[in-house]
Amino acid sequence: MDGTYSQNDLSHVVEADKAHVWHHLVQHRGFDTKDPNIIVEGKGMRVWNQAGKEHLDAVSGAVWTVNVGYGRERIAKAVYDQLLRMNYFAGAAGSVPGALFAEKLIDKMPGLSRVYYCNSGSEANEKAFKMVRQIAHKRYGGKKHKILFRDRDYHGTTIGCLSAGGQEERNAQYGPFAPGFVRVPHCLEYRAADQGAPTQNYGEWAADQIEQVILREGPDTVGALCPEPVTAGGGVIVPPDDYWPKVQEICRKYDILLHIDEVVCGVGRTGTWFGYQHYGIEPDFVTMAKGVASGYAAIACCVTSERVFDLFRDDASDPMSYFRDISTFGGCTAGPAAAIENMAIIEEEGLLENTTTMGDYMLDQLQALADRHAVIGDVRGKGLFLGTELVEDRETRKPVAEAQAQAVTADCMAQGVIVGVTNRSVPGYNNTLCFSPALIATKDDIDQIVSAVDGALGRVFG
Ligand code: PLP
Repeated sequence: MDGTYSQNDLSHVVEADKAHVWHHLVQHRGFDTKDPNIIVEGKGMRVWNQAGKEHLDAVSGAVWTVNVGYGRERIAKAVYDQLLRMNYFAGAAGSVPGALFAEKLIDKMPGLSRVYYCNSGSEANEKAFKMVRQIAHKRYGGKKHKILFRDRDYHGTTIGCLSAGGQEERNAQYGPFAPGFVRVPHCLEYRAADQGAPTQNYGEWAADQIEQVILREGPDTVGALCPEPVTAGGGVIVPPDDYWPKVQEICRKYDILLHIDEVVCGVGRTGTWFGYQHYGIEPDFVTMAKGVASGYAAIACCVTSERVFDLFRDDASDPMSYFRDISTFGGCTAGPAAAIENMAIIEEEGLLENTTTMGDYMLDQLQALADRHAVIGDVRGKGLFLGTELVEDRETRKPVAEAQAQAVTADCMAQGVIVGVTNRSVPGYNNTLCFSPALIATKDDIDQIVSAVDGALGRVFG
């Protein structure tokens, strides 16, 4: 640590935090006996807490965000310069970094052409949902308004996004939800038997399950399908290669817009700029947030095709025909200024290539770990986005108890390695360890992460 804060300063911070901060995603009773972890500094892959303890961060800021690592002076400087020159102007006005980042982003997304700025993954998804609803009104008399979402996928925290939420534990006690959102089955081959699926051609079977729901609801009532390309918090679920092309074929057959939620996968996490690009599909909407500026500023984007955009061009006969939406902080220039540098770092340092190489290496290492620990039932991943599902018995595939999976992450934490676990997402299935180190990870970093998990599994499961 650089000594900016004295131990007295940090003790005061802990007391102020305990007295006044309402932390995300946690039962506060835990802080009666244990201080919150205040992350004071970060550099590269590592962070330091109030006690000066160093941790290797295998989850990029807890939720798959800090793709280029901590302490990037170049991003901080670009944001500083931009804020002094012009920090904010909203509404119909544009900005220099907003235009330049949109140009760079679209260059990475063949087939898409328009970037709508906002601040969070939830908000980006809400924008797409609103566009789908407005298209339904403009073109189909309001009828083709339903939005399909998949079991186990998550799209955000607002009531609209929870209405499209496939994770029961995130939704419980927050209803009633918005009408017009319809659940379809997910695609997790390891658990195919639980779905009563055949052992052959699982991807095709899972896509067909979506078609069955479309036919049940009536294709003329379904406007869009919104999935995660690789499901994150629902269990790090990588679909078989033939799944997404088949899903796209079904969407096209029934004139259903495909909205891919890249809030986690977007901007390099899986080794391509976007997760959907592994599968050769062409979505109509792509939403993104976390990795867009690696957490150096709040920015999210809802990107659409020109076909979608054209539907909103002013129609003189209808004064309501344009997208009547605004995001106050979509006018803040810190986000696109940071995002330009973030993208430049990924390109100049070859981080997509590193993500693929290191992702393959980590997958191999985790598979090798499975040879030593029978509790590892499945290892899956794409790039530096990986998970291991822990089971009591490889035959029955019964998940370990949530508390046991959490004991593994607590043990890793004590060893100075921050590992994630699917938490409060799918009842009975909060048993997947999650790994998403920054895209700069080296073999040494990965060895340290895998060795910590090895030790933890040995201690927790014997
Ligand atoms: N979509 C996915 C796939 C996510 O994982 C998340 C958050 O974890 C969101 C959307 C919501 O993003 P935010 O928390 O920025 O609103």
